[in-house]
Amino acid sequence: MNKEANILKALLYSATEPSGEQQKRFGDFLKNKYGSEIPLEWIKSEDYEGGFRLEVGSDVYDWSLRGRLRMLRDTLIEIPTDKGSIIPLIKETIKEWTPEAMAEQVGTVKTVGDGIATVAGLNHATFGEILIFAGGVRGMVQDIRRDEIGCVLFNDDEGVVQGSHVKRTGKTAGTPVGEDFLGRAVDALGTPIDGLGEISAAGYMPIEAQAPPIVDRQPVDTPLETGIFSIDSMFPIGRGQRELIIGDRQTGKTAIAVDAIINQKGKDCICIYVAIGQKNSSVVHIQQTLKKHGAMDYSIILSASASEPAPLQYIAPYAGCAMAEYFMNKGKDVLIIYDDLSKHAVAYRALSLLLERAPGREAYPGDVFYLHSRLLERAARLSDEIGGGSITALPIVETQAGDVSAYIPTNIISITDGQIFLESDLFFAGQRPAVNVGLSVSRVGGDAQTKAMKKAAGTLRIDLAQYREMEVFTQFASDLDDQTRRQLEYGQGLMRMLRQAQYRPKSQHEQVITLVMALSHTMQGISADEVTEFIEGLISMFETENSDICERIDREGVMDDALREEIIRISKAYKNHGVDERNKK
Ligand code: ATP
Ligand code: MG
Repeated sequence: MNKEANILKALLYSATEPSGEQQKRFGDFLKNKYGSEIPLEWIKSEDYEGGFRLEVGSDVYDWSLRGRLRMLRDTLIEIPTDKGSIIPLIKETIKEWTPEAMAEQVGTVKTVGDGIATVAGLNHATFGEILIFAGGVRGMVQDIRRDEIGCVLFNDDEGVVQGSHVKRTGKTAGTPVGEDFLGRAVDALGTPIDGLGEISAAGYMPIEAQAPPIVDRQPVDTPLETGIFSIDSMFPIGRGQRELIIGDRQTGKTAIAVDAIINQKGKDCICIYVAIGQKNSSVVHIQQTLKKHGAMDYSIILSASASEPAPLQYIAPYAGCAMAEYFMNKGKDVLIIYDDLSKHAVAYRALSLLLERAPGREAYPGDVFYLHSRLLERAARLSDEIGGGSITALPIVETQAGDVSAYIPTNIISITDGQIFLESDLFFAGQRPAVNVGLSVSRVGGDAQTKAMKKAAGTLRIDLAQYREMEVFTQFASDLDDQTRRQLEYGQGLMRMLRQAQYRPKSQHEQVITLVMALSHTMQGISADEVTEFIEGLISMFETENSDICERIDREGVMDDALREEIIRISKAYKNHGVDERNKK
């Protein structure tokens, strides 16, 4: 700046020519500020009534009446409105306010279009800083070059024209946060979109924040039950984990996320659903579904829909994460869903290309990996000393024709602690949720499973793997020996057992009892079509006649050998009873 100040001169605007004394004071001021003599040029202007305006490069000092009034107005605007009566507050603020030279940095717009503006003259603007354009349009610095900066605009760029002024704010982009957001739907800037009135925020948090350092974390060891049988039994998720949901379009990705939210009812876990580039109608549908199942009370929906500009879609997940951090820092558990990060990457690509960054693989900019890693690293389980809160993240990624080796999927797979892989073929074959057992994995959740579930799930994955292998080998064989046929039937039964309707999360005892029963080959002889009905009957029988067992599993989360034998005994008796009944008919 000093260098440029040497080249540039200082321009002084005022209605009347400054006196010799005044000129000397300006000279001293400049020397003080910039450390060298700067030639001062006076320009006559009626715009700055009752004072002066001094411009040095992009720094502007305003001693005029108008500038001071504007400063007072800005001070008044910042009075928090939630601190009681407003009149005394205004009086107080005015009394304490002392007029100073309003110093600000002002730049000019060089080009504008497609929600992107390049600005010249803001030499000290920082990355991520909010700038204010003509007409109150807000933008965020996204690109800093040698002699200009690239900026994305959050509002319509109408009113922003070439040559118009841009002001720095010195603040980085942030979002309002607070308890009052629960039950509401907001956009990426935290403004309500559900027509239920204003939300009074408890604070303001930066959307970009450092991930918690290692010393502030503790291992993931508490389960976050999704209520989805195939996930809780084989790919358990712990509080603080990041588990990717990946699959082609229309394979039930969102359905899993919504079911997981519904299952958090009464489990003291706050849920945030971030919709990126989704249709408005789908977001409304999700809101209604959550409301219907009583899940909106502990949830926030943050949506940057497909019709919104790329910059808003780009900041949406970070804003959602900031809202989650507010609760995590208060020691709460939060589940956050990013639906979906492929659309987020596409929005970022559009933005980067418009900012004229060099395109890399698949035309994504070079830092697209960092885009998602810095977001997902903010999911954590904090240590007990700092409250023990957690953020569990379920990012969603859409693949094309099941290709998990594309650029964005491989990136996100490598940042997360596992993935739930959903397959179109399974989905269309009626196996819903369409979880591919071979390709899905949860790398840390096993520690978070309850002992009962761990014991019950025992050999499920191996049995299913054997079944899949056998299924391929026996596809064309016409006559099978008895043992092979029995094994095939057993596998089919297990697959049927994993089918689950939407919006019907299963409780712990339901899952544990079903697993113990099925893995002890109790369903032998029951045809695949009857499996669902059989299990439903068995569970309702347990819940009415053996409710103590159900309660014990839910409460203690343990199952000793005696209890396991007991469950097997009761299940076998139930099945034999059913067979007898049928034989009678
Ligand atoms: P998109 O790629 O469009 O976002 P998606 O992968 O998120 O799709 P969903 O919208 O969750 O998929 O589900 C697609 C359809 O499948 C929906 O109509 C949904 O109701 C249905 N569906 C999802 N899961 C199940 C299930 N377990 N049982 C029955 N139907 C289901
Ligand atoms: Mg979806």
